Amino acid sequence: MTEILVSEVGLRDGLQSIERVMPLEAKQRWIAAEASAGVREIEVGSFVPAKLLPQMADTAELVAFAKGIEGLTVVTLVPNAKGAEFAADAGVDGMSIPFSMSETHSLKNVRKDHPAMIEEIGKVARIAREHGIHFAVSLSTAFGCTMEGAVSEDQVVRLAEQAAEVGAQEFSLSDTTGYADPAQVRRLTRKVKSAVGADRLTTLHLHNTRGLGLANVVAGLEEGITTFDASLGGLGGCPFAPGASGNLVTEDLVLMLNSMGLNTGIDLEALLKVRTIIEEALPGEPLYGFTPEAGPMLDYEHRTKLDYEQRTAA
Ligand code: ZN
Repeated sequence: MTEILVSEVGLRDGLQSIERVMPLEAKQRWIAAEASAGVREIEVGSFVPAKLLPQMADTAELVAFAKGIEGLTVVTLVPNAKGAEFAADAGVDGMSIPFSMSETHSLKNVRKDHPAMIEEIGKVARIAREHGIHFAVSLSTAFGCTMEGAVSEDQVVRLAEQAAEVGAQEFSLSDTTGYADPAQVRRLTRKVKSAVGADRLTTLHLHNTRGLGLANVVAGLEEGITTFDASLGGLGGCPFAPGASGNLVTEDLVLMLNSMGLNTGIDLEALLKVRTIIEEALPGEPLYGFTPEAGPMLDYEHRTKLDYEQRTAA
């Protein structure tokens, strides 16, 4: 049965866009509950200065906590080499650096142009290698930018190649702004795979800003993508991309993949119960998702017992 990895990013991408700070204890319960529902990878936070994002100030503590859970891969975002040193000290399994394909967005977000970012990626790659940490470059705003509009696909390919030259081993394509459509996902995935190597682009980070998130997942599956980021309750978005909100909802993604016969290893019923932790810790915060409202189909369990080939065979 085809295995698909669902990587939970709500504690980073979700919480960073919310003013309120979720207490450490609630974050720990969230991580533990998702892991026991079968989630195998969680991005627990970001090593950015606490004065910029106070919501992420407890990332090192969360890494320590999450590392105690067996079978869980603990990843964090790092904005630069300094953040990568903190992540290495904290003992993360993996880290990723966002690399904005829109230079305007990059300058606004991290005050670095593309050549400066390539240099930074080289430094982070070196730190990751020294510590044996899995490292990925997240090609953000790859499908379009709220400031520049269209982002040239040739530019995305060229920047991915440059990042590979300075030591980037793996890539993810990130729809920071919710601009991606399924045709574009197939085309750009194929182009980047052929530029950096098919096995080095395994992940899509999609938003559901315009309701195209799950359609884009299917497009990614057809191009051999095996890891998808999602946020429980669709919490949050990107604070640096105006108008971008609504991550892909983990619950909806898991329902779709499991019912298609693509094994995520995640127990949907257990996952749905995790929302209560967020509702209690952040009362009034909007949470999204269709599955939490409608519940699974009556024959959901039966569907999950078949594999994708059986589900699609005539
Ligand atoms: Zn995002």
